[in-house]
Amino acid sequence: MASSKKKYKEYRKESGFFGQRRKNWLKGGPRWGRGGGGPSGPPPEPMPGDGSRKQPLSYYLKRYIGTLGQHKKHIIILVVMGFLSMGLRAVNPWTSKFMLDYVLIQGKRPQNLGAYLNNVLLSKDSQSLLMITCLVLALIALSELFMSTITDYVSRVLSAKMQACIRRQMIKHLQVMPLSVLERLKTGGIISRIEGDVNSFSSLLHDGFLAPLNSIIMFAIGLGSLLLISPVVTLVCTGFIVLLALAAFCVFNIMRPLFRDLHEDRSKISGRLAETFGGIRVVRIFGREPRETADYIGAHHLLIRKSLHTDKLNIGIRRLIQFINISMDLTIWAVGGYYVIKRHISIGDLMVFTRFTHWFFHPVFMIMHSLSHVQHSVACTERIFDMLDEKQATVDKPDAIDATTVDQSIRFEHVDFEYEADKPVLKGLNLEIPVGKTLALVGPSGAGKTTITNLLVRFYEPQSGSITLDGMPIDSFTIQSYRSLYSLVLQDVFLFDGTIAENIAYSKPDATIEEIVDAAKIAAAHQFIEEFPDKYETMIGERGVKLSGGQKQRVSLARAILKKPEVLILDEATSSLDTESENAIQDALKEILKGRTTIVIAHRLSTIMDADSIAVLVDGAIVEQGTHQELMELNGKYAEMVNAQFNKAAQKPTHIVWSDEESTN
Ligand code: ADP
Repeated sequence: MASSKKKYKEYRKESGFFGQRRKNWLKGGPRWGRGGGGPSGPPPEPMPGDGSRKQPLSYYLKRYIGTLGQHKKHIIILVVMGFLSMGLRAVNPWTSKFMLDYVLIQGKRPQNLGAYLNNVLLSKDSQSLLMITCLVLALIALSELFMSTITDYVSRVLSAKMQACIRRQMIKHLQVMPLSVLERLKTGGIISRIEGDVNSFSSLLHDGFLAPLNSIIMFAIGLGSLLLISPVVTLVCTGFIVLLALAAFCVFNIMRPLFRDLHEDRSKISGRLAETFGGIRVVRIFGREPRETADYIGAHHLLIRKSLHTDKLNIGIRRLIQFINISMDLTIWAVGGYYVIKRHISIGDLMVFTRFTHWFFHPVFMIMHSLSHVQHSVACTERIFDMLDEKQATVDKPDAIDATTVDQSIRFEHVDFEYEADKPVLKGLNLEIPVGKTLALVGPSGAGKTTITNLLVRFYEPQSGSITLDGMPIDSFTIQSYRSLYSLVLQDVFLFDGTIAENIAYSKPDATIEEIVDAAKIAAAHQFIEEFPDKYETMIGERGVKLSGGQKQRVSLARAILKKPEVLILDEATSSLDTESENAIQDALKEILKGRTTIVIAHRLSTIMDADSIAVLVDGAIVEQGTHQELMELNGKYAEMVNAQFNKAAQKPTHIVWSDEESTN
């Protein structure tokens, strides 16, 4: 495995010193991935927000400004407060001039403050003037404290509101995003968007809008004040400011792609971590801990190297700016001092000048500082909007109606479907599921059995053909009402961290405890649940780790039954049961299936034989369909498989094993 140093060198070579060739890198260059990455790695799949399908920056900014509309009140308060406090602070340098030129140097009085003020000032002695000036300064300081307290609090409220708003949109959107996109995003990617990206999203308002706005006001006041004192010295300062602005412009253009790159790497690493610990049992059983650790450390080291490179550039540019600042200060002292000696300006003027040069210079520095954050925030904002731009998986038609029951049948007619382009999974599939009957789907693995159920519950839409419920296309129903007709039990049971009762009631949150117990009894789960000290209130741990495979399966069956679905889908639902659990559940299952529209994907012969109809699926098409008896008489693929089992097994076979499957249970 290549060291992080080597990988970093390859990365730097590919993406350029400033990340300027990053687009090529994204198109097909090496990337750290599950296998540790490498120069020959395959091109990455386009992902929402990975930089490969970015819109222009103006698009994201427009959308961002659009989201600010609902927080107008808070933004106006912040802008007004910023303006007022800047105005107050501008009084300070002028007060220094007043102190130096008129209060401390006795006898000299201002001539240009208007007749009334001049008279007032002339009537006061120096001590009184000193006191008045200090009083004014104290009032200004107190008002500033008051305003900054309000500003701090309002900006926190605003940030919390913005985060809540965008998180709500993201969660809503994630719930309706196509499964294929969610699979690509991975759990870690989703979490990093909802947590980290959203925090940066809200800080963009401050760093990208409010801070620069304050800086511009500050700059304007500074420029105006300097021009009043000495246009020549102001011109000298402006030269330095132009240099600074150039540096700021370079920073934004250079650093933005670098920051975005870093952020994506971080998100990928956290996604990988979530995956590793989500599948920790698989990691351990295959002894992959050292490899997982090495991959993590390698990726992390690579990230550190990239991050240090960015820091290096950042620090370099900051020092350049400081150097310009120092040069400007020195020049002002030299030129300003010369003008004082020549009596073109007073000492007070020079004092105002040195203080206002910071007003001239500070905004540029503030903008620079904000920009280093803005780059990160813009990158996060781009990722958020990219995600929100992902189309919804299924949208209700405007005239969609609510589905309530299944009266006749569900039919697949000439259905073609593929998950990925040019890899057809279902080919012209025709299938009828009559109401109240059990249909068993059998066939080799990969034939498309689960895909049929995926299309049935509208996890995916077929590319062509139609699926109808009582003669109506299923997309003419609202998705929620349509899905409420179904319950699904999968081989890979997913339970949530909570009590057994909560997990069973997941399908019907308003279920009474009696209903929960009844469902558990039908699913042959009641007995083992009663044996736990806390019975139905037993906490089952994350993903149900505290239950055995068979117990989890029965809890998930109870969950499906509780909903009293019109159609029940059992996808290898009993395959992970041990013999004891399976025996316990068989009678229950017969009871559950009686008179209920059910689709069973199973290998267990007794379940298949009991079905009202068996559809044999091979390579995405139904090749035979009928009862067990009919199919045995047909002597086709199904009969061949069943007979093969009878010949192979010493005793009566219990399961069908398809020739291209190593084993089933
Ligand atoms: P079965 O249930 O008969 O074992 P599936 O319906 O699960 O088969 O899968 C049929 C084919 O579709 C397989 O080739 C499988 O690799 C592919 N497939 C299943 N799910 C996905 C998915 N989410 N994305 C891409 N391909 C998939």
